[in-house]
Amino acid sequence: MSMNLVTLLYLIASVCFIQSLKGLSHPTTSIRGNVFGMTGMAIAAFTTAALIVKLAGSATGLGWVLLGLVVGGGFGAWKAKTVEMTKMPELVAFFHSMIGLAAVAIAAAAAYEPWAFQITAKGGAIPGGNRIELALGAFIGAVTFTGSVIAWGKLSGKSKFRLFQGAPVVFKGQHALNAVLGLAAAFFVFGFWHSQSQMDFWIVIALGLVLGVTLIIPIGGADMPVVVSMLNSYSGWAAAGIGFSLNNSMLIIAGSLVGSSGAILSYIMCKAMNRSFFNVILGGFGGDAATAASGGGVQRNVKSGSADDAAFVMGNAETVIIVPGYGLAVARAQHAVKELAAKLTEKGVTVKYAIHPVAGRMPGHMNVLLAEAEVPYDQVFEMEDINAEFAQADVAIILGANDVVNPAAHVKGSPIYGMPILEAYKAKTIIVNKRSMAAGYAGLDNELFYMDKTMMVFGDAKKVVEDMLKAVE
Ligand code: NDP
Repeated sequence: MSMNLVTLLYLIASVCFIQSLKGLSHPTTSIRGNVFGMTGMAIAAFTTAALIVKLAGSATGLGWVLLGLVVGGGFGAWKAKTVEMTKMPELVAFFHSMIGLAAVAIAAAAAYEPWAFQITAKGGAIPGGNRIELALGAFIGAVTFTGSVIAWGKLSGKSKFRLFQGAPVVFKGQHALNAVLGLAAAFFVFGFWHSQSQMDFWIVIALGLVLGVTLIIPIGGADMPVVVSMLNSYSGWAAAGIGFSLNNSMLIIAGSLVGSSGAILSYIMCKAMNRSFFNVILGGFGGDAATAASGGGVQRNVKSGSADDAAFVMGNAETVIIVPGYGLAVARAQHAVKELAAKLTEKGVTVKYAIHPVAGRMPGHMNVLLAEAEVPYDQVFEMEDINAEFAQADVAIILGANDVVNPAAHVKGSPIYGMPILEAYKAKTIIVNKRSMAAGYAGLDNELFYMDKTMMVFGDAKKVVEDMLKAVE
């Protein structure tokens, strides 16, 4: 395969990746986006395999590449097929950690045997520019690796280790420590550039590994979505950095696309959470959301009703706005909700879905969930488009959502103060379904549950919605 053909195929793969991102930006075109992504990746992998054979002059190294593809691809395919929707965010964090680790491993291999990567002739010194790229790529990869491992633990929330739990771990001088680690890393990157010292290279990696932990542990409560998209961005930049060292245009382009799209997503998430982008990048946000008391242990009364009561109220309404949340995903109630909405529509009720950008546990979680149930897209509205309609709505029905409708976001001093919410509290009647009075992800009590116009319907979302459906029928 000639180098011209390699360049052409890489260009085609890059166009596929760009088309993929474009397609993934809307539910109606997302399947096409995925097909473009898979095609681009197949072309890139095939071309890289051919390039290895060309550069090595034989197919010797190809066996290892194929082994990696079969083992890694097989594991990825099996995981993607079997993972529950609610465990997707943890899986994404795990994948990010693997990208970070791969970047460190490639940079280390290139730093030890640069001639194997055609960076230098055998025994030659690595050019200065490549040294910086390698050290930076390894550093960002190391931060991404440990940061994603901590994020994985926080999202799964199962581990016994405090570091891996949802609550923020905060201590005095945390920001100063991060700054010192960052500056020290810059110093040793300089050292590696200056003398190509292996020791400096490993110190850079060690500092990156520690910084990944110290950046992510203070983040908790409702701020994790930003972290997930930020780590996504870091993993892209790590790959792009290594691409420069290896002189591989595909890695540079794909890494930059992941890096920049992740950065844009982080920005959108920051806006949705009303957080400062720079605070996020520096790991200095998060507050003590998860440690905030949920109700201070005081028992308060709420009005509760049955699924039949709720069905009666909705059946007599003109407009019903459905607010899906994480609990809906846990209960896998999306199909039942779609049927309920269809039945209400049949009865002449106008039904709309209100989507908060951080509802669920991953960006776009609720859109994916509703798309899976084939909910008509014209019934699904983003927060900024529907918030003005709550005040006129007869009923807002909140299914397994909590933080995204918590009016505490309007209360100064609250850990989620400033976070835009779905203003369901403005609806004429509010129906809330959840299993208990337990707090949401941010660990906060929710005043909405105690309002006079609120009716709590306790139980698993799927069972409750199915009962509502029967009652409406
Ligand atoms: P929350 O996590 O705030 O609340 C979910 C609610 O669902 C809980 O209060 C729970 O109460 C209820 N629930 C759980 N299981 C069921 C069930 N089977 N049936 C009925 N109800 C159930 O969810 P939201 O979607 O409102 O908010 C998302 C939160 O997650 C935000 O704080 C966001 O920042 C955070 N987050 C979001 C990420 C993202 O990218 N979207 C990533 C990481 C975190 P009970 O136990 O009483 O049933």
